Amino acid sequence: MSDLHTLSVAQLVDGLKNKKFSSAELTNHFLNRIEKLDSKVNSFITVDADNARAAAKAADQKRAASDNNTPPTLGIPMAHKDIFCTKGVLTTCGSKMLYNFVSPYDATIVNHIREAGFISLGKLNMDEFAMGSDNESSYYGAVHNPWDLDRVPGGSSGGSAAATAAGFIPVATGSDTGGSIRQPASFCGLTGIKPTYGRVSRFGMIAYASSLDQAGSFGRSAEDCAYLLQPMVGHDTRDATSIKHAVPDYVADMRQAVKDADSSKPFAGLKIGVAKEYFGKGLNSEVEAQVRAALKQYEALGATIVEVHITDPEITLATYYMLAPAEASSNLSRFDGVRFGYRCDDPKNLEDLYTRSRSEGFGPEVQRRILMGTYALSAGYFDAYYTKAQRVRRVILEDFEKAFQECDLIASPTAPTAAYKLGETLDPVSMYLGDVYTIAVNLAGLPAISMPAGFTQNGLPVGLQLIGNHWDDGKLLTTAHLYQQHTNHHTQLSDVAKMGV
Ligand code: GLN
Repeated sequence: MSDLHTLSVAQLVDGLKNKKFSSAELTNHFLNRIEKLDSKVNSFITVDADNARAAAKAADQKRAASDNNTPPTLGIPMAHKDIFCTKGVLTTCGSKMLYNFVSPYDATIVNHIREAGFISLGKLNMDEFAMGSDNESSYYGAVHNPWDLDRVPGGSSGGSAAATAAGFIPVATGSDTGGSIRQPASFCGLTGIKPTYGRVSRFGMIAYASSLDQAGSFGRSAEDCAYLLQPMVGHDTRDATSIKHAVPDYVADMRQAVKDADSSKPFAGLKIGVAKEYFGKGLNSEVEAQVRAALKQYEALGATIVEVHITDPEITLATYYMLAPAEASSNLSRFDGVRFGYRCDDPKNLEDLYTRSRSEGFGPEVQRRILMGTYALSAGYFDAYYTKAQRVRRVILEDFEKAFQECDLIASPTAPTAAYKLGETLDPVSMYLGDVYTIAVNLAGLPAISMPAGFTQNGLPVGLQLIGNHWDDGKLLTTAHLYQQHTNHHTQLSDVAKMGV
């Protein structure tokens, strides 16, 4: 079968169960596509073909031996953002600093995803240390958007989004500190979920800004995302910020919701908040038109739209770009050229070793953030910048709390534009402005999902973001799933996904 890469995860589960194809065939199909087509996209940093083929063979044997009494996702390929530590396989975080780093352990989610039977095909390209919105800061080269190879896929999980949209893998992991799952999902015509802070373990996920970082999943549909998210969620004693909270069965709940819903008005009773702050200046008119049209579809399907107020995104942006670099400057101090990763040649003394290893190992965007963050944390500036930003962070959360008294979910564009041309935002501030609609969610620890909502006139995907209250991850998946039962934006294929091999 040459179209295996266009099947949904549910179809893959069914096909494996009913022996329409084996995991070995499936894995070979995807590896073949990566081998033939990824030179155009550059989505993988490491392809782990031998281990993947061995795991696929083992999965087929296990399925045959236990007569399908195995996890339903046994033998389904996926890949990890290169921010997750993988034992025995290179983990670079998109940086020269970790060009030779092989982790001695697996991230908790890597283990759990493997236990659910998924097979990792390798590690995906990303902005260096997850800092960026265009995947152009990777030491391993920029990633190209499979819908238009002259454009960026978004970032920082650009490789995860591009590989999924190109049909190199059905689903991928990502991380989201300020939008790094949702914005690339929007640029690449995918669904991507950033769960509630504390929902997914961060153990073994290289830290950028620890109070904001959260792992999540990418897929072509909400249901595909749910299949991969399921093994990721849950409490982990090795991550002090992971929270004990009941774990729902996302896919089962989504299917039940379809059965329970009035088929013509599935959103009857659902109140969606719309804030004019999220439709302000800087929003591209074609993106706005598609998002407003999607909201009309939600209304036609029974939802009520209510106006809510959230914090001015310009204030949120300033708060985020104070706090995230501050945390990053502290987290990245561990990369000193001594313990692991890149070390400069012939250091003259310890000071020279630190200075040159860090200046040569980190790219310009990472250095800029370390400088900004160190400045904000330095004596004399700490109160004026860091403490003040922390206070504003509290206000942002309170504004959301008030908004959620008026509505169940909040809708907005995921990003102010569709995917831009490679090289178009080399000026950092214009890149930061692209994060206006995604970062408040991280500052407030809320869950949010981006789903395909339509296309611009030149065929670029546009994303709609839905923000939920804490622990409403399942509600977001179910809402997106119901929407996807009635629309077909998410079933469109990118140019690269349409290419055969
Ligand atoms: N674009 C944002 C930044 O550069 C968010 C990145 C992320 O979510 N990892 O910080």
